[in-house]
Amino acid sequence: MTLIEYSSESQRIAVDEIIDQFTIDRDKLDEIVSHFIKEMRKGLNAPVKSIPNGTENGTYLALDLGGTNLRVCQITFWGSGKLAIKQEKYEISDSLKTGHHSQLFDFIADCIHQFLIHLGDVHDSTLSLGFTFSFPVDQTAIHKGALLRWTKGFSAAEAVGRDVVEMLHEALERKNVPVKVVAMVNDTVGTLLAHAYENPTTIMGVILGTGTNAAYVEKLDNIRKLNLNGSGDMIINMEWGAFDNERQVLRLTPYDEKLDQLSLNPGEQLFEKLISGDYLGKITHNVLLDLVGRNLLFSGRSSNKFDNIGAVRTPHMSIIEADATDDLAYAKQLLEVEFEIPETTLTDRQIVQRICCAVGLRAARLSACALCAIIKHLGVENQKSAVGIDGSLFEFHPGFKHNLKQTMREILGNNADNINLEQARDGSGVGAALAALYAEKDHADFSSQL
Ligand code: ADP
Ligand code: MG
Repeated sequence: MTLIEYSSESQRIAVDEIIDQFTIDRDKLDEIVSHFIKEMRKGLNAPVKSIPNGTENGTYLALDLGGTNLRVCQITFWGSGKLAIKQEKYEISDSLKTGHHSQLFDFIADCIHQFLIHLGDVHDSTLSLGFTFSFPVDQTAIHKGALLRWTKGFSAAEAVGRDVVEMLHEALERKNVPVKVVAMVNDTVGTLLAHAYENPTTIMGVILGTGTNAAYVEKLDNIRKLNLNGSGDMIINMEWGAFDNERQVLRLTPYDEKLDQLSLNPGEQLFEKLISGDYLGKITHNVLLDLVGRNLLFSGRSSNKFDNIGAVRTPHMSIIEADATDDLAYAKQLLEVEFEIPETTLTDRQIVQRICCAVGLRAARLSACALCAIIKHLGVENQKSAVGIDGSLFEFHPGFKHNLKQTMREILGNNADNINLEQARDGSGVGAALAALYAEKDHADFSSQL
């Protein structure tokens, strides 16, 4: 990184202090990994699934509700690890996220209907659909599970405690859409299933998008030790976004605290809040507003636009971090044109870039801790294996993948190179369709494992 010519000593000190707060050193990495492994061993539980081997075939609908977008897909599995996918994406507005659940599910039913019309596929016969629903659920069967709590800025009323598939079926009935939901999975489980279809060495599915979470394949030995029923493989949905809400190892900066306080779920999902796309922009924004307020950035001048809550979003950080021009022209455009900040100096923009990098780097390092904890727990450091990762943060944030891998090297040494981090694009949709396929083809066997 280029040397910054600070305009004053107090500016340099303030920025250095902030960067310090976002820094996670080697010792801290190890502390977090150890605590994570300890916590994991406490709470293993999840439904059992078969892991795909690439021979599956058939055509299924899938629905993916991740947090930012809704995707409706039709997926055809050809066997031999190949598939074809048709899909449409719909944005979920804030009013849908925070209104009554019937409005949210009616919207979903409408989207499915529209998709089927575009597909030219409106039949009288009922189509089977797999639903990727990426919020914490107490799942009791492949097509049954009660919502435990909303996350990622959702708060739709009268939904917590209710069966998610039932709420969707009610909306499908209201809207007369001939679709039956036969399976529900979490996006992490979907990603794991989908990636295993393509690559049988897959041990884990990870989400780095609006939120963050992972699912992995537990070893039989551990399952026996815990007296869990079931034969074959077992998938554990970690819900790692809620890791260390007790703050035994996580340290929050004042900027994280402010984000948490203003969130819909204060005190919850702290790990997720330090890592994922819904939050990084807000944390960065909090830092920048603090510096402006202390007259240490933009000569103390902000704008109405920049003062708005939620003005800075995570994709903005990507633009700023990727800006390799000498005068940080892209950052200038963003700050002065989009955010209407009266004037920025090169120093201002360099500081903004440095802050963005620090917030992004911390997120990648924390993700690496969680990933390595699972790898260590499974004892597979020496084995060539794949991790399927889905989510726009991993896909588009410059440096995230590199920082994640570098940090894994710090934790695991050369063994980190045995673990392939692979983009699992569309993973959650494809996985839901695979779950639907299993649920239909293999229903008896499937449910007996639950
Ligand atoms: P979901 O998690 O809802 O399935 P995505 O995987 O697309 O959806 O993740 C959406 C999140 O990714 C949003 O929070 C958004 O801020 C973030 N995001 C989108 N594009 C980028 C980008 N270019 N750089 C960094 N983050 C991004
Ligand atoms: Mg997703």
